[in-house]
Amino acid sequence: MVPLLIRWEGVDGAGKPWVCKSGKRQSPLNLPSSKAISHIPRAHQTRWSYPNLVSNGSNIEIINNGHTIQVEWLSPYGAEVNITVPANATNETRITDVITLGATAKTAVVKAVPLQFHFHATSEHMVDGKIYPLELHIVHRVTDLPACASGCFTVTGVLFELTTAGPDNPLLEPILEHAPVREGDIHFLPAGEEIQLGELLPAPAERDYITYEGSLTTPPCSEGLLWHVLTTPQKISLNQWRKYRSAVSFKDCAATNGTSSTDSAEHGHHRHHHRRILAAEEATTTAGEEYTCKIVAYGANFRNVQKVYERPVKLARAQ
Ligand SMILES: [Zn+2]
Repeated sequence: MVPLLIRWEGVDGAGKPWVCKSGKRQSPLNLPSSKAISHIPRAHQTRWSYPNLVSNGSNIEIINNGHTIQVEWLSPYGAEVNITVPANATNETRITDVITLGATAKTAVVKAVPLQFHFHATSEHMVDGKIYPLELHIVHRVTDLPACASGCFTVTGVLFELTTAGPDNPLLEPILEHAPVREGDIHFLPAGEEIQLGELLPAPAERDYITYEGSLTTPPCSEGLLWHVLTTPQKISLNQWRKYRSAVSFKDCAATNGTSSTDSAEHGHHRHHHRRILAAEEATTTAGEEYTCKIVAYGANFRNVQKVYERPVKLARAQ
């Protein structure tokens, strides 16, 4: 059993080295929640509006890629995520300019289009040194700035805390219920079910967030991302947290016809069948396949916090 380890050095498709180790604007960070850090004026704050993602049986995918459970959608999605930028954008205008924009600056708004969301356990960001059990990342692309014609990215992070004896969070259930247990598998969210993505964020009056310029937290660790980390934690039950960790743990999945595969890219092709995460060891008979997955070790899918260097980190208070 060879655990999957992330390689942090390499080159992209154009032969350019990744910046995971050399970059000075890497993510995640240990964020200060102190009221003393400077604020983003209300008028410049990012606004999020996510309608429910409603399944028709083949438009919403829940993917186990071996590192995370990721949700993608195949049809246009009418979300409104508005980011403030300087007015009269030029080639030099960046999606991260909002962090340092003066309170009286003339501004415009650009739309960020959500592409997918996924989870990390434990959290990647810390707040005042505190680690949370789970962090949700909603990844968006911005294209309507001259410098973003081929796409700039902004990520919204939501932290989750464990309820000690509380009920399951019903908003997480459609995702966890249908999350594949085997790497490389994809399940469609069943027709009629929906994910209330907007409700997974804190209520609008509680959407305090910390913002800074950072990076992807997996290779190629590209920088220039506008990060928002919402600091009011949402809830996950212990039962749900176990389900998530079970789904992304290292597993030895043996088909009952004798072939065994150890949680690897051998399952590079996505399979479509429906499973529930019930226990560490279980069998399935759907889609003509039968296999049993045994958890070999629980994995963790977070990156360690990075150095801040000279970056401004700012707080946006919802009220
Ligand atoms: Zn992430």
